[in-house]
Amino acid sequence: MLLQVLGTAAGGGLPQWNCACPGCAGARAHPHRRRRHASLALRADEDRWYLVNATPDIGDQIEDSPALRPGPGPRDTPVAGVILTDAELDHTLGIARLREADGFDVLATRPVRRALTGLMRLDDILTPYTRLDWRELGDGPVPLTKSGGIEIDAVPVSPKRPRYAVTPDGADDDHTWVVALRLRESATGRSLVYAPALARWSDTFQDAVEAADCVIVDGTFWDDDEPVRTGISARTATGMGHLPIAGPGGTARRLSGLRARCLYTHLNNTNPLGDPDAPQHALLGEWGLEVAADRMVIEL
Ligand SMILES: [Zn+2]
Repeated sequence: MLLQVLGTAAGGGLPQWNCACPGCAGARAHPHRRRRHASLALRADEDRWYLVNATPDIGDQIEDSPALRPGPGPRDTPVAGVILTDAELDHTLGIARLREADGFDVLATRPVRRALTGLMRLDDILTPYTRLDWRELGDGPVPLTKSGGIEIDAVPVSPKRPRYAVTPDGADDDHTWVVALRLRESATGRSLVYAPALARWSDTFQDAVEAADCVIVDGTFWDDDEPVRTGISARTATGMGHLPIAGPGGTARRLSGLRARCLYTHLNNTNPLGDPDAPQHALLGEWGLEVAADRMVIEL
């Protein structure tokens, strides 16, 4: 299985256009610290790739990755579609930027599709330009392409709706609003779990990561208090739907017990790991964990 990391930052990217926090200022001063919005490209077949989430950076992310560039015909593209983990703007705004395509697949769970076609009216707006071939995730493993080379499955992670889809009563118990993706290559049995937003470590999620060869997981915040301490929110990391990396309820302890290669992605601009010289990197190394980097290629 071949994967290319297209971005590793949380909403806003690093630097965020309207932010002068130390993390963003550091990324402006040191371009190697820049991170694009979290996204992944997955090779499903020879010359047929799927993007995991469609970010506001999608044009640059495709252009920056030789395997995703168009050709040999003038409008041939290896980009076959988009797989969504949720309906957040930072993971879906890029869909509209693919409007020059003849058509492409969009794989999403039922509530995510309803939010995008209903509230965001993506179908209505894009139909005059291109064709969205919707496919539903959430009813067990399905082959990603006709060849059956890669099987995809969604693991429910959280009922957290994007802000634009929050209802006045606040009631919702559909845990497929946010999912982790499990991707398994039939020929080798190798598998990846991708969870850029992880609100809760469920038994189902534990089963998925125990069986995986590689896990790429929510590294939005270093510790639970970070959003409050840095003044970006009155809520803790967990309260914002992101389990922190370190601390008693953190994901590092659980990940370090796995046989899989584990990497963090979706770093917020307040996360100290955005600075390559931060002492937290040594701790992560001791735990046997890594931070994913933009443009990283992962072969399983
Ligand atoms: Zn910032």
